[in-house]
Amino acid sequence: MFELSLAEARDALRARKFSAAELTEAYLSRLEALNPKLNAYITPTPELALKQAAAADAALARGEGGPLTGIPLAIKDLFCTAGVRTTAASNILRPFVPPYESTVTAHLLRDGAVFLGKANLDEFAMGSSNMTSAFGAVANPWTLPGDARPRVPGGSSGGSAAAVAARIALGATATDTGGSIRQPASFCGIVGIKPTYGRCSRWGIVAFASSLDQAGPLARTVEDAAILLGSMAGFDPKDSTSADIAVPDFAAACARGVKGLRIGVPREYRSDDMPPEIEALWQQGLAWLKDAGAEIVDVSLPHTKYGLATYYIVAPAEASSNLARYDGVRFGARVEGADLIEMYENTRAAGFGAEVKRRVLIGTYVLSAGYYDAYYLRAQKVRALIRRDFTEAFGKVDALLTPTTPSAAFVQGERMDDPVKMYLNDVFTVPANMSGIPGLSLPAGLDSSGLPLGLQVLGKPFDEETVFAVAGALEKAAHFTARPALQAEG
Ligand code: GLN
Repeated sequence: MFELSLAEARDALRARKFSAAELTEAYLSRLEALNPKLNAYITPTPELALKQAAAADAALARGEGGPLTGIPLAIKDLFCTAGVRTTAASNILRPFVPPYESTVTAHLLRDGAVFLGKANLDEFAMGSSNMTSAFGAVANPWTLPGDARPRVPGGSSGGSAAAVAARIALGATATDTGGSIRQPASFCGIVGIKPTYGRCSRWGIVAFASSLDQAGPLARTVEDAAILLGSMAGFDPKDSTSADIAVPDFAAACARGVKGLRIGVPREYRSDDMPPEIEALWQQGLAWLKDAGAEIVDVSLPHTKYGLATYYIVAPAEASSNLARYDGVRFGARVEGADLIEMYENTRAAGFGAEVKRRVLIGTYVLSAGYYDAYYLRAQKVRALIRRDFTEAFGKVDALLTPTTPSAAFVQGERMDDPVKMYLNDVFTVPANMSGIPGLSLPAGLDSSGLPLGLQVLGKPFDEETVFAVAGALEKAAHFTARPALQAEG
């Protein structure tokens, strides 16, 4: 049962080969067995899941049911779920139970999905290792033979990615502000897509950096990711940045092939410190696309080198503003003080972890009167140049191919003493957020030690279909069948 893809499980449910209750029970018992080791879920919701599975079976028995009826999913604990605690992996939201459902999760429920629980993440989605969660680190299901040290699943959607890779969810929701869908997908050997900014509603998702945040799915196959995105996406009048554009049949695009497509290779993504095996995998990916009938074209994205620096001004600036709402008055935790100001201070000092405080400090600094022009305004100008680079490149090519990350999954605790080194994880993923374009990561191979590595496909705004077509061709050629060590235990 755990070997089935989401599409296969959907078909088996429709053919009544097993019931939604049976599928959900199987996933729940695997979750119970493996979660103590992985810590992928903060809040499992078995009772809710069984209720939803029963409703799915009733719908299927009537010959009804949507595209996800009876499919068990993990929900990143950044999506508000009505009546189910939503923590953003922060102490400040530890007691928060939203009275409303996010638009994206409401779409999934409309389509019949079953929610197994709320998945762990970096606190407020700030991080690349899932080490900053107030609910503890998540272990990557991939380990190395003879090396017991747990590795990071990536971040911030580390719990979602670990759950999908360990087969304790058939798919998951995630969000990506600078790489938090694609980097964990790469580290865990699965597929993840950050769609175009505006494709999925941000309504009901705890905000990190609103001009960059996008929701998207994590799944085990390209087609599964396409099915999930088809449900999550769509116009929402409650989010003023939501795009009023029809949602195409993403799943149908996966098998389109790449014949006649022009695939760009951005030369600035090549660096001297890139590990040779990642460079080799990139070349392999280009060769696969060429064999499948695509034309490979060199392109230039000259402002990419400023992407990370600009991101670490824009994202903390927006975060410092968004997180001002956690003041002990309206949401979550409150620590009393002698007066109102002291109550604010006590609440925020106790409620936020070190990385979140660092971002709030940086953000407040770059927005302060004396430094606004030197940092924030300048970063906005560079952001416009990064966006223009992509517009120009997409005048010549249909999609771009790059590595997803500059390394494979590292050991838990590494890079924690050096935030800048941690931030470098996102060097290949951040430009897509800065420019709003879609980006997908798929597993393309293993490094010499046996850990998964991803390739990233970038596409034109609102042309996720081409991204899926390219990813589908790569998936077919890569034939990635490796499984995490943990697989043997389930
Ligand atoms: N790792 C990046 C950060 O820490 C991106 C996080 C994200 O995409 N949510 O900001």
